[in-house]
Amino acid sequence: MPQLGFGVWQVPDSEATAVVSTAIEAGYRSIDTAAAYGNEAGTGKAIAASGIAREDFFVTTKLQNPDQGHESTLRAFDASLERLGLDYVDLYLIHWPTPARGLYVETYKAFEKILADGRARSIGVSNFLPEHLDALARETSVVPAVNQIELHPQFQQGQARAEHASRSIVTEAWSPLGQGKGLLEVPTVAAVAHKHGRTPAQVVLRWHLQLGNVVIPKSVTPSRIRENIDVFGFDLDDDDLAAFAALDEGRRLGGNPAEVN
Ligand code: NAD
Repeated sequence: MPQLGFGVWQVPDSEATAVVSTAIEAGYRSIDTAAAYGNEAGTGKAIAASGIAREDFFVTTKLQNPDQGHESTLRAFDASLERLGLDYVDLYLIHWPTPARGLYVETYKAFEKILADGRARSIGVSNFLPEHLDALARETSVVPAVNQIELHPQFQQGQARAEHASRSIVTEAWSPLGQGKGLLEVPTVAAVAHKHGRTPAQVVLRWHLQLGNVVIPKSVTPSRIRENIDVFGFDLDDDDLAAFAALDEGRRLGGNPAEVN
């Protein structure tokens, strides 16, 4: 799995083909979509139009909450593949545990079947708390490859990252740029960016990569799409990492996984 990919939440389907094509041209090969984003079709068209071999891509999509349950998961997966125009995905994720539904274990067992059938090369989860990972560990046999969670310098998720490491689960950061809402103007971030002759977004993404996170920044602006993948030619030093460590506010931008339904 590439450590840096491209996220398409809130990109309308009608724009997804152009936006994802720009990302592919910029060098992204990992694309993160979801049934709930309504843009699997537009995303799939960009992949097909690229002329690049299918095996060079890493495509992730996610099961939306109302489709949890054994049979409905199998049907929803077929529909996602159809919209994407693919015969397999590289990673299939349960979008949210929605514990109030009580269906995520059953849903994950359907994911294990999809994996066994070779139609997803790997399976995982998103927004799972340790208690949800515990339930999967007790009742299912395949360790999720990935847990995709909200994670950025103002919500660093130290405990979750340690939990994942101890279970050999990859931590994938959603909203890695804090949704561009304020994080990129924080003086510490601006100062580190200035020191390295880079942009705030680039040093935030560099911080993720050095922590070992998989990141999937989103942008619809071509120059930013290119900027966000140009993060491999420099390193943050110990002083920079210490400055970033002090930015953690422990505050979510998105929903609490214990409550989202
Ligand atoms: P993000 O942190 O990637 O921020 C994106 C926003 O930051 C852009 O809309 C833009 O306003 C700004 N931005 C991007 N690049 C910039 C740059 N170079 N300079 C200045 N501003 C810039 O936010 P996101 O879209 O919420 O998260 C990324 C991806 O994570 C999503 O597209 C989606 O694929 C995934 N995601 C998953 C879940 C989940 O529940 N699993 C939830 C949210 C997001």
